[in-house]
Amino acid sequence: MQKIIPPLTLYVKVVFVFIVHLLLIGCTTAEDELQHKGGVAISFDDHFIDEWYQLRPLFKQHGAKVTFFITCADTLTEAEKRLLHELQEDGHEIGFHGTVHGNATQLLSSASVDGYISTELEPGMKYMQQAGFHPTSYAHPGGNHNALADSVLLAQGFTILRDVAKNERSLYGVQLYHLPPKYMPHIYYTFDHDSTVDALTIDTDVHISQEEIREGLIKARDTGTVLMLFGHKPLYQEPRPGEYGFRVSFLNSILAQADSLDLQFYTMSELPALSDQRPKRSSL
Ligand SMILES: [Zn+2]
Repeated sequence: MQKIIPPLTLYVKVVFVFIVHLLLIGCTTAEDELQHKGGVAISFDDHFIDEWYQLRPLFKQHGAKVTFFITCADTLTEAEKRLLHELQEDGHEIGFHGTVHGNATQLLSSASVDGYISTELEPGMKYMQQAGFHPTSYAHPGGNHNALADSVLLAQGFTILRDVAKNERSLYGVQLYHLPPKYMPHIYYTFDHDSTVDALTIDTDVHISQEEIREGLIKARDTGTVLMLFGHKPLYQEPRPGEYGFRVSFLNSILAQADSLDLQFYTMSELPALSDQRPKRSSL
């Protein structure tokens, strides 16, 4: 004989299912709130310490924290060391960009792993440490590296290795392509513990517009990711032949837009470090 469920029992079951559903929605919201704020991670390469220091008021105006990747640390003057310490005290990160700014793949094939370490890594890191800096992030000189270089660098203790991304390529003066940054997923950090990343150059040779940057920053905000950008020398006029750099006015617009969009400024080593705090999702 078929059992008939009394209406009251049915009502209790419906209420129970409804409450469980509400609890599940509540859990998802709490988890989402724990995710990281969308942001931007800006870094600068080479040895333009006086010029970078001139940007300090700009960084302060917008509450920006950035990363400076230093090469040729053996030539650091006492004055440059003081400036870098001041920048570090402001909350900026001091990273490492090689001792001789060499070609990693060539060094590895001609000098082996030991030669690569003793030529490109150890001497410069020793100078950095003697100057009171302890870099945990590394930018590949010339954007040149391979899997072996990465494994050596990670074994040396670096927690994030930054490569170069370009949104535009030309051949013999003819533009092959120009991509808006919002369509370049690899330049966004997703807090997935990734230790090998690409940052988009903002130097003048790739012709990124302010609108393209704005779209990229909005994407970072809306997806809770971090747009990674980098440049070389701050320029106040057109670059001279062979000069790599970005316009200070362009950097100013990036900082102002990031500030007005309420984005977070991240340094490079913060990206993998903060990944550890991301709640683990068994369903992903
Ligand atoms: Zn460089």
